[in-house]
Amino acid sequence: MKGEFEFIESIRSMFPAPEGVEGIGDDCAIIPQQEGWETLVSTDMLVEGSHFLMDDITPYQLGWKAAASNFSDIAAMGGAPVGSFLALALPHDLPVGWEEEFLKGYRDISEEYGFPLLGGDTTSSKDRVCICVTVLGKTPSGRSVRRSGAKDGDLVCVTGFLGDSAAGLAAILHGYERDEDVKYLIDKHYLPHPRVREGQALAAWPGVHSMMDISDGIGSDLHHIMEESQVGARVDLSEIPLSKQLRSFCSRYGLDPYEFAAAGGEDYELLFTIDPEAEPDLELPHTVIGTITDGPELEWDGSEKDYMGFRHF
Ligand code: ADP
Ligand code: MG
Repeated sequence: MKGEFEFIESIRSMFPAPEGVEGIGDDCAIIPQQEGWETLVSTDMLVEGSHFLMDDITPYQLGWKAAASNFSDIAAMGGAPVGSFLALALPHDLPVGWEEEFLKGYRDISEEYGFPLLGGDTTSSKDRVCICVTVLGKTPSGRSVRRSGAKDGDLVCVTGFLGDSAAGLAAILHGYERDEDVKYLIDKHYLPHPRVREGQALAAWPGVHSMMDISDGIGSDLHHIMEESQVGARVDLSEIPLSKQLRSFCSRYGLDPYEFAAAGGEDYELLFTIDPEAEPDLELPHTVIGTITDGPELEWDGSEKDYMGFRHF
């Protein structure tokens, strides 16, 4: 690895700060305050061996994904991009070019979504890569969408398809042949596209009562909305949107697609609840998968199985 200062200089030249904002270079970044807006902040840590394996993921994909999971947290509240901070602990014996590839992945998604990198920290690590990303977003004051707003009778909705990422991971772990379907699923796992625009559109839509991003599978994530909102939910398994690639992959290998869709993680789609009177007018593509009840259970229509979602501990 290059010297620390040289490394920071190369980051600085790859990530120019936008007009009016002070980014990398001083002791702190300077972001002007905007009257009538509130700031959203979230941070996530990724540790080699626990959250990723160096042999599985390329540095480019890792840079992309580390940013993606954070941008998704801003999407989940309905936020617009402000910027990100990147703290890295890197061992000395990384493969040649590893840092550059990592930063390229981080830069490409940052440019695509309009989140400038405004600072961070760089330090050495004895044996493992550790990545800590902090992300900042903004919404008009009082307009962030929380997990706690769901109401009895709301429709439970999701964006996109569920389960692709988890199926991609399964295909990697089991070494399945990489045909077109499997390549699509693996791309969904390594290069996810968080729903930042969609989150903003939903936050501006009257009748959207609660929202979060799907990182651990709806079987687990829906519980967070239920707990924060003090409600229950009924989900119709057969309504969960599945991609044609996931369907054909599962039929080929005799797998249950709903296991991936309900209990798999890292889809980075949005899960939201909406007033049933407002839902028919919602122009944003979405799928209604169930309803909020007065609680407290999560019931699955169409299955005896209890799809729980990914647990970190
Ligand atoms: P300090 O001694 O104040 O911690 P550093 O030498 O760590 O300063 O950092 C110098 C500048 O480079 C700061 O603006 C910091 O935000 C930025 N920086 C350091 N590491 C990174 C990184 N990994 N990504 C982005 N910016 C970084
Ligand atoms: Mg520092």
